[in-house]
Amino acid sequence: MKYVYRVIAISMIILLLSTGCHMNEDTGKGIRVIESGLSVSNEGILYSCLQLNNALCFYDFESMQSVYLCAEPNCNHTDYERCKAFRSSHMPFLYNEKLYYFTGESYYERDGSIKHTTKLIESDFSGSIEKTITEFEANNITSYICYLVGDTLYYIGAKIRYTDLGSSNYSSHILFSINLSDGRVNTIGKILDGYNVNIMPHGIIDNKLFLTIHYTEDDINFADYNMEDWSSIPLRYNCHMDLESGIIEKIDLPVPTKIVDNYYYYNKRYDNGAYKFVARDWRKGTERVIYDGPVANNVDLIDGKMFFSPVEGIDKNGDPIRKLDDNGVIFFSDIEYSYDLKKGKLTTIQKKISNRENLDIVASSEDKYIVFYMDIDNNIHNRLAYISKVDYLNGMDDFVLIDLPS
Ligand SMILES: [Zn+2]
Repeated sequence: MKYVYRVIAISMIILLLSTGCHMNEDTGKGIRVIESGLSVSNEGILYSCLQLNNALCFYDFESMQSVYLCAEPNCNHTDYERCKAFRSSHMPFLYNEKLYYFTGESYYERDGSIKHTTKLIESDFSGSIEKTITEFEANNITSYICYLVGDTLYYIGAKIRYTDLGSSNYSSHILFSINLSDGRVNTIGKILDGYNVNIMPHGIIDNKLFLTIHYTEDDINFADYNMEDWSSIPLRYNCHMDLESGIIEKIDLPVPTKIVDNYYYYNKRYDNGAYKFVARDWRKGTERVIYDGPVANNVDLIDGKMFFSPVEGIDKNGDPIRKLDDNGVIFFSDIEYSYDLKKGKLTTIQKKISNRENLDIVASSEDKYIVFYMDIDNNIHNRLAYISKVDYLNGMDDFVLIDLPS
């Protein structure tokens, strides 16, 4: 008997709270980031389309069009049971012209206990030839970023403790590696057991995966607390985990805003209480200032340029403070910065769109950026659009929404 996940909504909320935004793929040479509903390859962008009930769609860089990822003959993509674009897929990505994704299954064992497994499925675009590459014991819905290094996938799985009442707040988190060519799964090591655990992976340097870990010491329910108290309830630490040995070492630096190549980017506090956005060369331990103030966490890096927004300050938990309306919804900054990593040059982008709108760069294709457009007041989220790179730097208002697949 299948057990219905009810944790999906919760992990989506955690995802929105913790990142607020997706990051793009460009986080290091030969390292691909795969997110819960977004993966960029050389050919295009695979994404869950929010406007189409999360149908799996593909934006092709060459044709500049989006299509449903379904090749069923005569399918008009409305029958969720039949249409392959609505396959139950988690963290889908394309690799060597094949589609991969995770699915979760749960069964009641004979003794009444529940067993949860995660399957990695390999498929062609049409979904007509699907095969299970591997299956291992973990809940598949707790991880929202994994990394592909060569043909090895690094995946954080969780085992949630179940009681007679259903799922509990207690879970064990494990880092797995999966070899895509032979399906071999290797348990690298345990990250943490605890209550209300939330793990944010940031990136990989020198074969070490950098993580921020949130947890609570006691079994508390966040629903019992005010929103304002939420951010200060969980305990947290930053660490890295060796991808070979599984050894975890805590690190004494604030949460990174970005990790790419061998650089650790973060908001550094100086003795006079002021913050600056700095790049730390992880191997050498040297730092250079990129911007004379604190910046928001959703830093994009594309074509050797870093894009970031200034924030009001840093709160007592070390998190950037963003301007909010009465409902706690953010006002985007009027200014964004672009920093050329090679030239060390900072460019100011004076935005011409309203501060309830935002463009978030997903990919670069020739003279254009492909972006997710957001308009809070008109309830538009993650709508794919493109804009020429020149227009982006000139104020972001000249973007073109990409037609939804039909
Ligand atoms: Zn279809």
